[in-house]
Amino acid sequence: MENCIFCKIIAGEIPSSKVYEDDQVMAFLDISQTTKGHTLLVPKEHVRNVLEMSEATASTLFARLPKLARALKTATGAPAMNIINNNEEIAGQTVFHAHVHLVPRYQENDGIKIEYTTHEPDFDALGKLAEQISKEVDA
Ligand code: AMP
Ligand code: ZN
Repeated sequence: MENCIFCKIIAGEIPSSKVYEDDQVMAFLDISQTTKGHTLLVPKEHVRNVLEMSEATASTLFARLPKLARALKTATGAPAMNIINNNEEIAGQTVFHAHVHLVPRYQENDGIKIEYTTHEPDFDALGKLAEQISKEVDA
């Protein structure tokens, strides 16, 4: 897609540090290198994010994650890894071509925080919400 930075990387029009490529997906080092080896896995098909992705594209994209994650772990020696995907601006998406972040983690207290606040469970509300969502899954 025109003016999409990741489409340009896939087409070889702008440089990247490629770590994997096949006919459906590509993986390259993130220029921000949150930690050493921070990698992005992208579908070659231009799609905005997971919210707009077909099952077929998701199947191929996410199927590549385990072998890429293992390769990254072996190559960097990082014992742990976060695999993160941001969808839309509020969630932190800045490049609107779907991608999955693989962030090797080397030690605790490395300054990276991925936190979820916890609330007292309201089981009645949880039940109603789960029902509401489940109705939409195959709607
Ligand atoms: P997100 O905030 O989830 O949309 O992530 C976008 C990521 O793309 C950021 O971590 C950027 O550092 C990364 N990025 C942007 N431009 C490039 C580029 N030309 N090559 C590699 N990574 C890039
Ligand atoms: Zn694109």
